[in-house]
Parts: sequence; C-alpha cells; structure tokens
Amino acid sequence: MYRELCNEYPISCTVTGFETEEILLGILSLVRSIQYGGDPVQNAYPRVVREEGNPKARSLVAEVFEPSDALWRGLGSIKGSGLTVRREYEAFDAYERFGLEVEEGVEPKGCRCGEVLRGVCTPAECPLFGNRCVPGDPVGACMVSSEGSCAAWYNYS
Ligand code: SF4
Repeated sequence: MYRELCNEYPISCTVTGFETEEILLGILSLVRSIQYGGDPVQNAYPRVVREEGNPKARSLVAEVFEPSDALWRGLGSIKGSGLTVRREYEAFDAYERFGLEVEEGVEPKGCRCGEVLRGVCTPAECPLFGNRCVPGDPVGACMVSSEGSCAAWYNYS
C-alpha cells in the first residue's frame, strides 16, 4: 500500500519497528534510499512485516469489514480510508447496537496538533508548547503519550 504513495509522490518510505535498534535501522534505510535511490519502499522490520502482510488476518478483516470514509485527526474525512463493519456482522457493530455517532474532533483552543501531524508546523511553533502544554500537563493529544509528536519534540529536541 505504501508503494502507491511513493509512486505518486517523490518520497521514500521505510516500515520499521519500535525498538531503538529498529528505529535506527529504519532511519539508515531511509537515508540510503534517499542517497542512493533504488526501491523507495524499504522494510526494516522483516522479523514481523512481510511483503504480503498477514494473509489470514487480511482475509478475516476483509470478511468482517468493508472500506469506508473515515475521520482523521488534523486531516478531516478521507474517502475510503477507514473500515466499517459489514451488514452481515452488524449485530456486533457498536454504532448500530448503541446508536452511536462520532463527531469530528475539535482541538483545544490554541492547539496546533492537526498542523503538527500534517507537517505544516513544528511543535515548537505552537504558542502553547513548553509553557502551557508540557508532558506532565498536556493541552493537546500530541503531548499526551511519550510517542506523541509534541512530547517527543519536548523530550528530545
Ligand atoms: S499538543 Fe500542545 S504543544 Fe502540541 S500543538 Fe497541541 S497545544 Fe501545541
């Protein structure tokens, strides 16, 4: 699925894991791909990720869900980017069972999380960063968990 993106845009892409060594390997793989060219899609996580994915899991997901539009933080609704429970399984669909509706998330006042996630600005360009918004007292979602963009920027920049 990443190959489509790399074919359409001049970017390189590396699938990587979460351990320090795996992240470093992913960065190295990206740098090599950018410097020397070649396949823009790299897999630096081969102990878990295979080219064909997990066929059994993919088959089960396809049986239970169908593609649908989905809301994404900072991006809004993207056509066909999500999954919805198929009619045959609607008895297990919480939206149907409990009559749920999910509204588009609204960021707290002044929070630029959506722009940070889109790469439009850096966390430090948010006026709340490091003063009103810190990991111990976060304002927006990007500062909440340690892997959030703003939290990582705060801890490691
Ligand atoms: S999470 Fe905090 S620092 Fe990050 S954009 Fe939102 S308010 Fe700003």
